[in-house]
Amino acid sequence: MANKRDFYEVLGVSQSATPEELKKAYRKLAIKYHPDKNPDDKSAEEKFKEIAEAYSVVSDPQKKARYDQYGHAGMGGAGGGGGQGGFTVDDIFSQFGDIFGDGSPFGSFFGGSRGGGGGQRVRKGSDLRIKLTLTLTDIAKGVEKKIKVKRYTSCTTCTGNGSKNGTSLTTCGSCNGQGQVKRVQQTMLGQMVSTSTCPTCNGEGKMVSERCEACFGEGRQLTEDQINIKIPGGVSEGMQLSMSGKGNVPVRGGVPGDLLIAIEEKEDPDLKRDGQNIIFDLPVNFVDAVLGKDLEIPTVDGKVKIKLKPGTQAGEVLRLRGKGLPSVNGYGTGDQLVHVNIYTPNSVSSEEQKILEKLRESPNFAPKKGGNNKTIFDKMKDFFQG
Ligand SMILES: [Zn+2]
Ligand SMILES: [Zn+2]
Repeated sequence: MANKRDFYEVLGVSQSATPEELKKAYRKLAIKYHPDKNPDDKSAEEKFKEIAEAYSVVSDPQKKARYDQYGHAGMGGAGGGGGQGGFTVDDIFSQFGDIFGDGSPFGSFFGGSRGGGGGQRVRKGSDLRIKLTLTLTDIAKGVEKKIKVKRYTSCTTCTGNGSKNGTSLTTCGSCNGQGQVKRVQQTMLGQMVSTSTCPTCNGEGKMVSERCEACFGEGRQLTEDQINIKIPGGVSEGMQLSMSGKGNVPVRGGVPGDLLIAIEEKEDPDLKRDGQNIIFDLPVNFVDAVLGKDLEIPTVDGKVKIKLKPGTQAGEVLRLRGKGLPSVNGYGTGDQLVHVNIYTPNSVSSEEQKILEKLRESPNFAPKKGGNNKTIFDKMKDFFQG
């Protein structure tokens, strides 16, 4: 590990690459060299680790600054001494798995089966599924949620093997610790030997002679865990994020399952989502539409002031640039589209009626052909061209 490659070279980007460019480069390479796509390919796995290590440094502003100044020497134990050995595929999942949602084409690579490397079977615990309801504001900015989850974690008394004091394990007598038993059968074709999982020890090869009292020999305990979930901006209803290793620990040791987080969108009373754009219907007093007015309207980013210009037409669409939602991949932000509706009162007082009767006669109130009497269709066209 003496000659580590330059992190930017590893990712194929320049030192001045933006966070988006870094993420894009990392994602592309991570997918290419992902262990699930390259089973039993050691060099791909090493590449994958190298990419992840590079990204873990250059995507962190503090680490990046240190690396840019001092190179690998500045990375202390993480990059300098331990080399890539200290960085496992599981670390990569726990750190970066969550930037790939299941809604994205690469989501399925992550949080899927792991622990299969090396040929030895590693038991994986069950996944936990939760729903997370987010407001449009949460989605606009990304959000960190602390949630409490009941999950099986390794028993602290026996450190997970289920035996008293963590030590009283004996080799299974039925299979001599092999975990498998051979059966010899006489058939018409001769002797047939079949192997099956040892029923005495369930394939573990070891037996607990004295059970741990804290977990009754299960090796795990149901605990209430507080988990910090970072949700990136731009997620949408039905998307699933996974946090590796935050699911249940299996009985008597193994790799914990994953925590799968299904995103639900909380309906907003005022704002409607349309992809990355936000639609807002603005009912306008027709006097305000005629004379113009400063108004305050809700956005995903709180209230903002807008100017209704004199002569605003029904059906006009105002665009508030950048007031929509970010894309989950980090490219671009949508707009808020304000649809102007003229509000017509259901009833008026006799005094109001007199004023309106007078206005009715006024030539300015007679609809003109063409002119500002464009159809909604024309306005939409103007809007998209303008
Ligand atoms: Zn225990
Ligand atoms: Zn056995």
